[in-house]
Amino acid sequence: MAEKGNRVVQGRMVTPGSLAELIEGDSVMDAEPIEDANRECPDCGGSVLSVGYMPSVMEFVTGYKCQDCDWKTTDRE
Ligand SMILES: [Zn+2]
Repeated sequence: MAEKGNRVVQGRMVTPGSLAELIEGDSVMDAEPIEDANRECPDCGGSVLSVGYMPSVMEFVTGYKCQDCDWKTTDRE
């Protein structure tokens, strides 16, 4: 019954856009489908999701978010 591409993070349903905004801490212009990052959270060992998104016209970022705790990061240098 979940919409395609939606996932559960910390007990809440997120869309690609809302997950990207959670990671960015701000609104984003566009987001790609959520994927499994195939890595473990360094804080709790939980599953990590990845989502590619555009915080602005000039920038594309891949963000990572743990499904079980507050841990998050991006591939920004
Ligand atoms: Zn975690």
